[in-house]
Amino acid sequence: MSKRIGFIGLGNMGVPMALNLHKAGFYVTVYNRTYEKALPLQEHGLEVAQSLDDAVREKDIVITMLANDEAVEEIIAGDDGILDYIEAPTLLVDMSTVSPDTSCMLADTAKEMGITMLDAPVSGSVNSAETANLVILAGGPKEAFDTLQDVFQAMGKASLYFGENGSGEKAKLVINLLLGMTMQGISESLVLAEKFGLDRNIVLDMIQQTTVATPFFGFKRELLAKEEYPAAFALKHMLKDFGLVLEQAHKNGSVLPATSAAYQSYASAANHGLKDMDMAAVFAELLHASGVKK
Ligand code: NAP
Repeated sequence: MSKRIGFIGLGNMGVPMALNLHKAGFYVTVYNRTYEKALPLQEHGLEVAQSLDDAVREKDIVITMLANDEAVEEIIAGDDGILDYIEAPTLLVDMSTVSPDTSCMLADTAKEMGITMLDAPVSGSVNSAETANLVILAGGPKEAFDTLQDVFQAMGKASLYFGENGSGEKAKLVINLLLGMTMQGISESLVLAEKFGLDRNIVLDMIQQTTVATPFFGFKRELLAKEEYPAAFALKHMLKDFGLVLEQAHKNGSVLPATSAAYQSYASAANHGLKDMDMAAVFAELLHASGVKK
């Protein structure tokens, strides 16, 4: 019998991930805080749960893909949370990006109740989620990681095991530091070009033709050219991740001066109403700060 999966959190990432699990032949029940957002998945043949209880009971695996620490704590360990309903041997897999400390705390709480939990955040945005090309970064008991290979293969092109609980989240912060800094770097280059009066499209062509071009640049190029930022990876989530990076860096003594500076750019962008736009909107913030009006 195919594995039964409860999938909780149907945002930009959760929807394509749940759909890919369904396409791979798993029996998927989805749940979302805002029920209406789950309904379109019914048309694709997924079961939509009206309660967390229904999403969690009698499943082999429960996956969460939620916004932030607050959401994950509430849904897993809050009143009427997953831990009120889940029973061993169901595995609990949190794929959201949250603090490694929160992840460890929740894994410990789950363990006290006999539940095995893994952290398995993902690298790759909506496009990678849609095409099952995510890179999954896992922490937790290795045997559980091994049994999840078929599930991870349905959503991603690779799954990397980093060790004990929390280490998947640590790896995620490492890669997202680079992601946020890359966006900041591209944006600053483009601001300088703008102030020089260079043609933006030719500058974008130049970047594309050189060794600094990356697939990531390719994904964001159109947004930067048009200054339109529909969210694939919302700026508020990048800001959250930079906050988590700096919190961990403060604890472990990493010196990250450029990350601190980039954090300020994303924070200003969020304060200027850009938080729900794509992270590439940090370019809009830097243009504005540089006195370049559209
Ligand atoms: P999103 O579109 O903002 O969706 C967030 C989800 O969390 C929604 O289902 C939302 O439910 C739910 N949620 C938020 N607060 C909640 C609460 N207090 N209680 C219950 N549910 C709550 O986020 P996303 O882009 O899918 O990202 C999800 C996670 O993956 C984040 O941690 C993000 O950092 C990470 N991530 C994102 C990307 C990306 O490119 N988007 C890539 C890699 C990793 P409602 O619908 O009810 O609001």
